[in-house]
Amino acid sequence: MTLTSSLFSQFKHLRFRLSTRLGGVSVEPYGMNLSFSVGDDENNVRKNRELFFGAFNIPPSQIAYQKQIHSNNVRIITAPGMYEETDALITNVRNLSLCVTIADCMPIFLFDKKQNVVAAVHSGWRGCANGIVQNTLTALEKEFLTQGENLICYVGPAADKCCYEVGEEVAKQFPGKYFQQKNENKFLLDMKSFVRDVLLSFRVQESNIEVAPFCTIHQSDVFHSYRRDGKFSGRMMGVIGMDEK
Ligand SMILES: [Zn+2]
Repeated sequence: MTLTSSLFSQFKHLRFRLSTRLGGVSVEPYGMNLSFSVGDDENNVRKNRELFFGAFNIPPSQIAYQKQIHSNNVRIITAPGMYEETDALITNVRNLSLCVTIADCMPIFLFDKKQNVVAAVHSGWRGCANGIVQNTLTALEKEFLTQGENLICYVGPAADKCCYEVGEEVAKQFPGKYFQQKNENKFLLDMKSFVRDVLLSFRVQESNIEVAPFCTIHQSDVFHSYRRDGKFSGRMMGVIGMDEK
């Protein structure tokens, strides 16, 4: 089972897909796990990647991965491969697909429909607090002359405000409208609204922002969640790219 975006689906040359925990060959709880670094059998992960990317005809040779570190590092790339210590990839190269690995942090995908540029961003609370989304927008504007009105955005499944508990030291890094106090020590953080507001402040049109109504933590039958399953949590991936004209 994979997810797609109704906004992105309007653009025929755009490839976009997210995996879930369903449809893989790994032994549970991994299922459709796409990460080699969570203790899953390597052959099964390889097979899962073939299944996921193969289902929509993305050759392994055209994929760019990032080793995510909850930073605000953005890279503009022109070739596939593994990119170290980065949480956002941007490209205007066709037949190059950008990946985000997911298990609670937000995967955010951007498409400049005028300049034909795509971006894949990984942003949990640390990324949000560190400004990874703003940095990505700034890089798009500076390097590709991206204007907010031409951006189409998808904010994917993530730990949502229903379940995403954090301590006071984390909550207080955000304006009060993005968290609710649950009890004396716990706050529920609404990162999707935070990102949505960052995009709106870049003049992205409201109708061009799609926010997935899914929570990785409590929708345990569909999504992996590190917060819920700890070291036995698999990883999902989201991928975006552009076909040749
Ligand atoms: Zn939830």
